[in-house]
Amino acid sequence: MDYLVRGMARNDKVRIIGCDCKNTISLICKKHETYPVSTIALGRFLCLTLMMGAMLKDSQTITCLINSENGEIKTFFAQANAKGEVRGFVNNPYVDLPLVDGKWDIESAVGNKGILSVIKNFEEDKSFSSQVTLKSGDLADNFASYFYESEQIPTIVNVGVELDKEGNVKSARGYFIQLMTGYDEEDIEFLEKLSLGTLDEDIDKVISGMFDDFKRLENVPVRFVCDCSKEKFAKGLKSLKKQQLKEIVEEEGQIETMCNFCSEKYLFSKEEVEKIIEEE
Ligand code: ZN
Repeated sequence: MDYLVRGMARNDKVRIIGCDCKNTISLICKKHETYPVSTIALGRFLCLTLMMGAMLKDSQTITCLINSENGEIKTFFAQANAKGEVRGFVNNPYVDLPLVDGKWDIESAVGNKGILSVIKNFEEDKSFSSQVTLKSGDLADNFASYFYESEQIPTIVNVGVELDKEGNVKSARGYFIQLMTGYDEEDIEFLEKLSLGTLDEDIDKVISGMFDDFKRLENVPVRFVCDCSKEKFAKGLKSLKKQQLKEIVEEEGQIETMCNFCSEKYLFSKEEVEKIIEEE
């Protein structure tokens, strides 16, 4: 089962959040029919967004967005919440790049010029947003610099998505390790010496292997959730100009909309569109 884990170590001076979510990443990537490089890049981005979501309270949500100037993928978009629900997409699911030293070239897919935006939505339409510039094509590095620059929290970020020979997701895991208020030199030294190594095992084991005194606070199941609906798309159509709607429906006989997050299609017949136009 896919899950997020939250816990503390070193006398509550270190906070750890981990995720193990192969099935969810695999499902989302299948919906978008991603090629391997896009699978890994989107998979990592989803894991990172999920772990950001794990830091929120119940009804809050987080949106992470990358606009890259020089990556093969121009847009990464993902949303998650504290309940372990996640959805997301990239604008280019079909990135096809030659291997570099036998490895998938994720860095060229991400690029190293652009912006990472993080938007936290709180209750009553209040939100907080913050942006950092991309430092490299390594998604983990960029999230670490977000924590450092925007939240002043030193954070170790590790994330990995492995594929099998057929290009299917074999594993999708990651963790954040953060220094909490009250940390001292010893904690810094400990983290500096920490071997960040592999993500080959279940994330629970990976974390327990790094911290003898790991104290698990919570495990949260992870799943893909998209809350799109025909009603929401109808609202979207309503915001378009009447003339524009009339023209499309005259030409096509209907209007087809598609959800970017889950690829679900919603068809609006001529009659339905006419009703939407009248309702305005
Ligand atoms: Zn959807």
